[in-house]
Parts: sequence; structure tokens; C-alpha cells
Amino acid sequence: MSLQIALRKKASALTVLVTATAIALTPFSAARAQAKGPPVLRDTETEQLLREYTRPILRVAGLEKQNIQMVIINDGSFNAFVADGRRIFVNWGAILQSETPNQIIGVLAHETGHLAGGHLSKLREQLAAAQTQMIIAMLLGAGAIAAGSAGNNGLTNAGAAAIAAPQEVIRRSLLSYQRQQEENADRAGVKFLAATQQSPKGMYETFKRFTSESLFAARGADPYLQSHPMPAERVAALQEFASSSPYWNKKDDPALQLRHDMVRAKISAFMERPETVYRRYPQTNDSLPARYARAISTYLHGDLRSALAQIDALIQVQPNNPYFYEVRGQALLESGKAAEAIAPLRKAAALSNNAPLIEMLLGQALVGTDNKAYTDEAVRILRAAVAREPEAALGYTQLAMAYGRKGDYAEADLASAQAAFLRGDNKTARELATRAKTRFAVGTPGWVKADDIVAAKPPRN
Ligand SMILES: [Zn+2]
Repeated sequence: MSLQIALRKKASALTVLVTATAIALTPFSAARAQAKGPPVLRDTETEQLLREYTRPILRVAGLEKQNIQMVIINDGSFNAFVADGRRIFVNWGAILQSETPNQIIGVLAHETGHLAGGHLSKLREQLAAAQTQMIIAMLLGAGAIAAGSAGNNGLTNAGAAAIAAPQEVIRRSLLSYQRQQEENADRAGVKFLAATQQSPKGMYETFKRFTSESLFAARGADPYLQSHPMPAERVAALQEFASSSPYWNKKDDPALQLRHDMVRAKISAFMERPETVYRRYPQTNDSLPARYARAISTYLHGDLRSALAQIDALIQVQPNNPYFYEVRGQALLESGKAAEAIAPLRKAAALSNNAPLIEMLLGQALVGTDNKAYTDEAVRILRAAVAREPEAALGYTQLAMAYGRKGDYAEADLASAQAAFLRGDNKTARELATRAKTRFAVGTPGWVKADDIVAAKPPRN
């Protein structure tokens, strides 16, 4: 915040940018700071694991070329769904509640069954063109209007339909499947698991749990249960054909189980209350995931020095784990020690093969030092990061600050406009883009991008 105020003094041109704090696609650390958090969470470690879980399944389903994205929803209940042909959505609650990789992989295989089976309504197909956060806004109820005002980007029809229909109808038409589609997705999922030599037991275990839950909880049941009807006969049928799989008794690879447990520990630490974290991971638990959860929880709740000591101990165990350096950098950055955050974030970026979300943190640290010597490097890193992660508003926000520091107000306005556009704040995006157009020469690439935003078209990357 002090950084933002300093910047505002330097360049009143950026006032609009720096006062807008909502971030549509937000890292875990920023999510917990907001009472009513953002709809989508971003975290390299979690997304990487989910991609590894889904990639082989998508391949055998013939969908590997579709470039299907994994999206983590900021919701502690159990849910996973496909709302269009481009994305698989997973609540963090579903990851946390899955005790083994195989359990969540089973659910993802079932969802892939819906995708491969073409169980997509007309509305869903129209949604494929929309930005992730607009879809989420519609699904979670925030925003039939946001979607409707998106304008000329392929969502217009879906947006209009959304406005005409009550929220509950939209949700049902988007998320509910028919009984027959469920059974087909089960069969397809089991087939994909067999083709990738994985057990269907986790899928069965998860669905079985929901069947028993549905006996007690007609209302207020997990959203997954509401959208995927799970009568006892369906689960009985699943058990019958799943248990004949030659891989029924195959166990998860211990190394994968460890990574799964690390991600669950991280999710718990960031998203749950400290009492809950310490109940799940008491001091007596000396496992790496428990130590990871406690280290993160310690940094989040204010004891930086102890947190750093705990993180350093983790690094001793796994010196090539990029996410330990990432959390070290993040803890320093959020404690106002931007300069000290640079070294661990550089290391995290290098070890993660330059993961764009980590590079955005590094860019934020470079900009946060107030040292102009870092500005050009920050611009270079952030530009590369937003090119690969064009939906992360955070990257554009930091890029705008870096340009502001250079005195390049045309690029700063354009980046701020892009950030606002990605947050769904079209009014601010248009205002900033209009001003950016006056600062660029007509017809230059910057001018064209700004013009796209003024016309409320998706920005070109
Ligand atoms: Zn289903």
C-alpha cells in the first residue's frame, strides 16, 4: 500500500489504476486477505499437479490438443465440473477432501467423460468463448450482468440468456447432467483410467461417499451432489464395472502422494483458519506436508522470523523445490521486504522453468524495491509473464507500475486498462484505454490494443 501511495504522488496519471484493488485471478496469499474472496485462485504448484493429473487422461480421451485449462475455484465445498469445452473447474475443497491422488484423478476422469461425450448444452458452447472470470461470475451468481455487458466477444448471446433467466436456472442448465450422461461419464472415466493404467477405485470411493451423504443431506449438500445426481443404483453399477479393472488394486506412486499431500497442506494453510490448520497438522506431526502447512500458517499470521526459519528447514530437505523459495519470497514481499524477496523469487523462477505466476511475484518484488536499476528488468520479466498468462490481472497491474516508474505513461495506462478489463471492470478499462490512445501514435501496436479495449473486444496479446 505504501508503494501505491508513493507511486500515486509521482504520477497522478495512475490514480485510477492503483485505487482498484480487486484482482480477478488471485494467488492464494491475496485471496485470504479478502473477506469475500475472489472467485478464482492461482497457484503454480497446485495447477502444475492438476495438469499432471489430467494430461494423460485427456490424451487417451483424444482431447490433448484442445489445450484444456485447469481452473481452481475459491470454494471449500466439494465440486468439479466442466462448464464449457475449454476448462475443467475444481474447487479447492475437492482437492483438500481427496486423500489420494487417485481419488481426485477419478473425479477428473469422470469430468473428462462429460467433455469427451459432448455433454455440453448450447449455452455451454457459447461460454467457451468467454473469459474464465466471467464464467465463474455467472456460475457463482455474481454476474449475469458482468457477462451481459461483456459486449462483442462471443458471450453476448449467453449473457443475454443469463440475464433473462433466474440465477438458479442458469446454474442448473450449466451444471446439471442427466442420469444417462452421468452413467456414460462414469463408464468413459473408468475406460480412461484403464487406458492410463490407473485404478478406478478412487472414483468409486468418492462417489460412494456422496451416495451415503445424500441419504442425510437433501438440502445444503455438496454442490457436486446437486449437479451430478448420484442414486445408489448408479454407484452400484459403477462398482460392478470398475472393480473388474485390472488396475483396481493399484496404489498411487508414493512420490505423487507426497506432492498431493504438499498441495493439500498448502491449501489448508492458506484457506483455512489457523486452529483448523494446527488441528490437521499438529506440532507432533513431523512430516514434510505438516511442516509446510505450519511454515505457511506462521508467515500468514505474522511471525516472519519463525516462518523463515521453518521454510529454510524445508529447503534443506528439498533444495530444488521451487515452491519453498516461492513462499520464502512471498513471505518477505508481503512483510515489506521487497529487496530481500528478489533472491528467493529468482531461484523459484529458475527452478520452476520460469513459471509466469512466480515471475509476476518476482516482477512485483523488483518494482517494490523503489530501485530504478531494476525497472527495465521488471518490465522484461512481466511482459514475458503476461504473454504466457494473459488472464492474470496481477501481471498487468505490476507492469503498469513498472512503466509508471519509467515515465512511460502510454504503456502504463494500457497495462492498467488491461488489468481492469481482466477484473471485469469495463468502465475503468475503457477510460484508461481511451487515455492511452491519446498517448500512443495512431496505428502503433499499443494504440491498436488500447482501441480493442475501448471497443470492449478481448485485448490482443
Ligand atoms: Zn457427472
